[in-house]
Amino acid sequence: MASRISLLSGATPIERAPRLAEALGIAADRFWIKRDDLIGLGGGGNKVRKLQYSLRRALDAHARALVTTGAPQSNHARLTAAAGARLGVDVVLVLTGAPAPITGNVLLDSLFGASIVWAEGEDAEARADDVTSQLERDGRQPFRIPFGGSDSHSAQGYTDAADEIIEQIGEFDQIVTAVGSGGTMAGLVSRLGPHSVVGVHCGAVDDPRSTVTGLLAGMPGAAVDPSSLRIDLDQVGEGYEHLTPAARQAMELFARTEGVVLDPTYTARAAAGLITGLADGTIGANERTVFLHSGGLPSVFAHEGVAGIRF
Ligand SMILES: *Cc1c(COP(=O)(O)O)cnc(C)c1O
Repeated sequence: MASRISLLSGATPIERAPRLAEALGIAADRFWIKRDDLIGLGGGGNKVRKLQYSLRRALDAHARALVTTGAPQSNHARLTAAAGARLGVDVVLVLTGAPAPITGNVLLDSLFGASIVWAEGEDAEARADDVTSQLERDGRQPFRIPFGGSDSHSAQGYTDAADEIIEQIGEFDQIVTAVGSGGTMAGLVSRLGPHSVVGVHCGAVDDPRSTVTGLLAGMPGAAVDPSSLRIDLDQVGEGYEHLTPAARQAMELFARTEGVVLDPTYTARAAAGLITGLADGTIGANERTVFLHSGGLPSVFAHEGVAGIRF
């Protein structure tokens, strides 16, 4: 049996971005944006590729409810809700903190019919354990999907994505991606090797280097030395939920050169890492470079930092 279900309608587009490339100081024929934000399901984004693997396991286990955790504006939670709807499986989302406004991803979670449990003062993982046990007692056959949807199995979704890009444009030198729960970077590294992947830490985990190495350890292929991973640790700013000045500038640059919307939490930080890396030479401007657009559009409308900007 295939190890994944199909939630994609085909390869996502990969686009040139000549005005952006010029602004970045890269030759236009050496720069692409991989549009995983255009995945069709549930508003799109990178979590769908990982869910194709997790949900194969859930269906094999005859799950009747999916349980996962996230921040209030979690794209992973929203896409789990959408995938559950498509499969006809109930979804319970345990989100951190007190009930947040019904906007952005939270609004879509509800629209997709997911139940939301607010962890309030409690640890979301512990709260999700309780929710899962209760569903078990009720005979609902719950299946737990990890934080951010990342484990060594689901990360293969980005091994697939690396293959897909090579099919589209041939071999390339490097791909720049945001790092949240780490599965996206791990999957890319497992196919492309540590030297061809630049991760930009967004503050979702404490130690992204060990998170990504840990995921890779469970994947096929040679072990990866943590020190060989290229990770920019300098884009977190005041923390995960803050829009940094560099991320805001990156949002403006992508929007105003190419009409491409980045999200404030992940892709804007990844783009800020790209801009900084090109400026300080850690990202070579003469290399064939792909920027992974991993999604996140709904959070633009729910982010205090973005809403507060007077453009
Ligand atoms: C979750 C997310 C990421 C990070 O992916 P991980 O596999 O969790 O590291 C990047 N971009 C967006 C828009 C996301 O929602």
